[in-house]
Amino acid sequence: MSESAVSHNFIRPIIQEDIDAGRVAGKVVTRFPPEPNGYLHIGHAKSICLNFGLAEEFGGDCHLRFDDTNPAKEEQEYIEAIKEDVQWLGFKWAGDVRYASNYFDQFYGWAIELIKQGKAYVCDLTAEQASEYRGWATKPGKASPFRDRSVEENLALFEKMKQGEFEEGFCVLRAKIDMASPNMNLRDPILYRIRKKAHHQTGDKWCIYPSYDFAHGQGDAIEGVTHSICTLEFQDHRPLYEWFIENLPLPSEPKQYEFGRLNINYTVTSKRNLKQLVDDNIVAGWHDPRMPTISGMRRRGYSASALRAFCNGLAVAKTDGIVDIAQLEFEIRNDLNENAARAMCVLNPLKVSITNAPESVEWLEVANHPQQEAMGKRSLPFTKEIFIDASDFTEDTTLSRKKFKRLVIGDYVRLRGAYVIKADDVIKNDNGDIIEIIASLVPDTVGQNPPPEMKPRGVIHWVSATEGKEVELRLYDRLFISEAPGKETGNYLDDVNPDSLAVIKAIAEPAIVNCEPETAFQFEREGYFVSDRYDHSDDNPVFNLTISLKEDTSKNK
Ligand code: ATP
Ligand code: MG
Repeated sequence: MSESAVSHNFIRPIIQEDIDAGRVAGKVVTRFPPEPNGYLHIGHAKSICLNFGLAEEFGGDCHLRFDDTNPAKEEQEYIEAIKEDVQWLGFKWAGDVRYASNYFDQFYGWAIELIKQGKAYVCDLTAEQASEYRGWATKPGKASPFRDRSVEENLALFEKMKQGEFEEGFCVLRAKIDMASPNMNLRDPILYRIRKKAHHQTGDKWCIYPSYDFAHGQGDAIEGVTHSICTLEFQDHRPLYEWFIENLPLPSEPKQYEFGRLNINYTVTSKRNLKQLVDDNIVAGWHDPRMPTISGMRRRGYSASALRAFCNGLAVAKTDGIVDIAQLEFEIRNDLNENAARAMCVLNPLKVSITNAPESVEWLEVANHPQQEAMGKRSLPFTKEIFIDASDFTEDTTLSRKKFKRLVIGDYVRLRGAYVIKADDVIKNDNGDIIEIIASLVPDTVGQNPPPEMKPRGVIHWVSATEGKEVELRLYDRLFISEAPGKETGNYLDDVNPDSLAVIKAIAEPAIVNCEPETAFQFEREGYFVSDRYDHSDDNPVFNLTISLKEDTSKNK
């Protein structure tokens, strides 16, 4: 992709140097290694763009590998969703989808190898005891009483673990490294656990599963990953991966580089938190348009290219940072302004009867985009009765033309793509509310200026009252009301915006109703909308608000 990785990125020069120094024997190989325990979010998008982008830039390969070591939390649904998201973002993994579980036999063999070298042992401490024995950062741990089991005993016990002879949690296999290491990850970390759970890939074959740490680096080594890129929290795990490289006959020696996670204000990017929003029905599933998941953003109407542009504009640095959501919204607007077809939809309809309009429908040709001729034209029905937005009319004749560029009683306004009209009178109900405007059109003003004394105050949108179609609009707002959800109270759920969704009916011009799902529009003067990926149909048109037209949503433009 041409837009790939042009921002500051400390990993790029490292790869270049490795290539120049002849340290990369074949191709550059990177990978994106999700755990299939949730849907991907905007943070993952950064990692995807980085890994696939760098591989592409250096003519290498990027693998998609599921690090599926924990069958208790994983599901096939997540695997399918993740594959779909990566493809939708515009990337193609090299070869087949890979799974850490493809390598379980190999990992098991390496565990045996460590036992034989006297570098791994079966430990029967309970989880509680083990955590007590581990100590903490400033307090060295102490040796497990099972640490000095003989190789034979460990081999026999590990075999029994594998045969399912122990209950879950009864014992684990641990590496024998250093209980006094200042790095907690080196205090005899767990290599294998008993989990009597069927696995989505391996079925009932195993009842012991490797830890993430025992699988992740080795998976990279098996695949010949040259640059193993992950987020900063794995920095402290690197010495452990290097210990495995030293002590196992691995087929290659990947180098790990850590970069800062993407955090965005007004949102959460942790699968655990996102899962809770789904499980507690705070949102309607992982692909709810309010979710910062890739599928949620897609359904919201963000395009893959806008997301890539956002990710590729982020610095890849060695520190975590918080990115302003306005930066993401800028890319979304930028993209839609250029690529979304224009259409008209009236959210608060107020009827206007145009006394001198012809009785029959007049079909007007209107450009779909003011700058992009290639987007073509559409036919817009103009009729005697139309709707305008109630907020686009006032009886207050004291408002200056500059202040109120819409329709005022006794004055002129242009209907977008159609005539200049004048408001002559209003009809009110018993409560004094305006229920209809009586207007007249200025002939010959489609695409033509009226005489100077009839100069319109501004341009407003409208829809034919008789030809327009009713549509459902889902108006989304931010899911969280605070910049750092949960910062004040300690619970991010306290900052959920109770008004993040409003569903209304509106009247749209007929041409848009038959669009395919996931078609983006700018509803003139209202915002960017997209036909819903799942619920939109000709019979039940549904549009999601993607984003407002401007950061400041004043409509009087
Ligand atoms: P979460 O904390 O949301 O559960 P995770 O790191 O556990 O995410 P994985 O499935 O392990 O999720 O992530 C796959 C890859 O995506 C990893 O390499 C991880 O470092 C990267 N990644 C995850 N979150 C972010 C983020 N916020 N910014 C950048 N990269 C991320
Ligand atoms: Mg993880």
